[in-house]
Amino acid sequence: MRTPVVAGNWKMNGTKSTVTTLLQGLKQGLQPGKARVLVCAPFPFLSQVADELADSSIKWGAQNASQHDSGAYTGEVSVAMLREFGCSHVILGHSERRALFAEQDDVIADKFCAAQAGGLTPILCVGETLEQREAGETTAVVEQQLMAVVEKAGVEAFAKAVLAYEPVWAIGTGRTATPEQAQEVHATLRGRLAQLDAGVADGLSILYGGSVKAANAAELFACPDIDGGLIGGASLDAEEFIAICQAAD
Ligand code: PEP
Repeated sequence: MRTPVVAGNWKMNGTKSTVTTLLQGLKQGLQPGKARVLVCAPFPFLSQVADELADSSIKWGAQNASQHDSGAYTGEVSVAMLREFGCSHVILGHSERRALFAEQDDVIADKFCAAQAGGLTPILCVGETLEQREAGETTAVVEQQLMAVVEKAGVEAFAKAVLAYEPVWAIGTGRTATPEQAQEVHATLRGRLAQLDAGVADGLSILYGGSVKAANAAELFACPDIDGGLIGGASLDAEEFIAICQAAD
């Protein structure tokens, strides 16, 4: 039985004050359930998030990490630093990092290995653009993104990781993949890993991300290979995020 996971990706949003309001709302409204709930905050808020969630079952993480341990990497943040602030997870390979910051598969694979070596659970994001989907390349694209990490980290590394399928055309657009479209890709990804290790594939939580809201979460999460969600915009609203977490329960 896989653990459902609902992870909020706040992206580059928030102030000290809105973070407090959001976390208070989550702590008050979130009922204990089966789903593992976490929020991935911008770096400057991690200390505040750690303080405010210390007495809560909600976990927290970051949205990126360096592949390097320390040294002359201006502007970068290491895995060890994230661990010091209590992070349990880190999002890696988000399509915004791939598209806007030119992160390539090999760098993402290095980050994945560094995160695991330092004790963080990576949430590896894969997903195709609309152009790639329309060209019939979805399977090839997501498998390549996945296998670049498998080849470097080994399939067994996915026993301690989370995978997120996030079609680029659905992120922040209000256009969600249908449950059938999402399930098809999730099953493909799990099937690809199962060719290498059936046990690891079966135990891996694969999240769907892309315009998930309270109104569409339940039908997506009801699909057999969808084990929760990576939630962007809707994770900034406590009521909406709580409703999504309940759908995952
Ligand atoms: C995301 O940023 O990972 C995401 C899925 O965003 P949204 O839910 O806003 O589409």
